[in-house]
Amino acid sequence: MPCTISAADIDEAVLLSELNHWVEIETPTRDSAAVNRLADRVEAIAREAGLATERTPGALGFGDILAVRSPRPAGSNERGVLILAHLDTVHPMGTIKENLPLRQEGDRLYGPGIYDMKSGALMALEAMKIAARDGTHLPVDLLFIPDEEMGSTSSRGVIENYARNASYALVVEPARDGGKIVVARKGVAMYDILVRGRASHAGTRPQDGRSAIRAAARLVLELESLNDAQRGITVTVGTIHGGTGRNIVPAECHMQVDLRLPDDETAAEILKKVESLTPVDPDITIEIKGGVNRPPFAQSEAGERLFDHAARLAADLGITLEGVSTGGGSDGNFTAALGVPTLDGLGADGAGAHTFDEYIFVSSLAVRTALLANLMLTLNGDL
Ligand SMILES: [Zn+2]
Repeated sequence: MPCTISAADIDEAVLLSELNHWVEIETPTRDSAAVNRLADRVEAIAREAGLATERTPGALGFGDILAVRSPRPAGSNERGVLILAHLDTVHPMGTIKENLPLRQEGDRLYGPGIYDMKSGALMALEAMKIAARDGTHLPVDLLFIPDEEMGSTSSRGVIENYARNASYALVVEPARDGGKIVVARKGVAMYDILVRGRASHAGTRPQDGRSAIRAAARLVLELESLNDAQRGITVTVGTIHGGTGRNIVPAECHMQVDLRLPDDETAAEILKKVESLTPVDPDITIEIKGGVNRPPFAQSEAGERLFDHAARLAADLGITLEGVSTGGGSDGNFTAALGVPTLDGLGADGAGAHTFDEYIFVSSLAVRTALLANLMLTLNGDL
């Protein structure tokens, strides 16, 4: 299958000026009105291009979910291509003024959320406009998610409904380490652990107290001993808060724990260990809440065929596609867990996600938009 769209077919200047607008509309996940402002703009562009849109009102305080859908024959049940993008970013409002001004330095374009993933979201929309104009074999649905950076809690159900109707999923999260795309992601589990002891005066009645902090400290060591680099298991106690004053034996201590797990069996084994943690002191109690947030995304055989196809298309465009596995979760974890062959990291190349040094390489925009368009145009269900 020859490539039909080349990087020269993409108007980079138009793409860049629109990208600047998208970055200027700051979209912290928790600010649903801000996320919706960007969704309005995306929707207007899609409609102008003759694409159908569908908006699912926000839930749990998050913004709306916007779907852009290619035309499909009436009554067609054909499983299509699902593209996943998100409009929210981790950066608080004002970051663009304070810490990460929008600016170009050589090939690098800096700005909040530019790499993760306003560039990818815009590239997907642009590619879809081209693909819809030229005619795709399969229906294409492009979803703009409002709450990916907080675990997609309000949109997981919608993503999974679309995934059940998809033959392939393409996720436009940022590319890694020099343009590599993501073919597997670890699963993510999160726990909140509350340790309860007994308060007491530290000077006069220490013997009556049961320190929740001391018990929590033991648990931290126990939890972090589950780390196993060889098996790809990471366990991090990310926050800890306990006690009410210097001279009081602390009655409570609260911890937030993050786990990254390579596959379902490992996840089951490690989660069981976390959930059966028991304090040494019988006067201490613990409450453990949480579980898997994103299931592991392991590469399937069909996923490998999809990767090979994408690599051939990329070669036609003069780029070598390499696949990597990462510990970061994305909405691709949901589609892969449902058995949908999934490629991720198809967005722009750059670096500094979630930091004040976030940038993209401008030179990656046109060629990777062309790759997305060619994927949409060539996928036909026969890989
Ligand atoms: Zn992202």
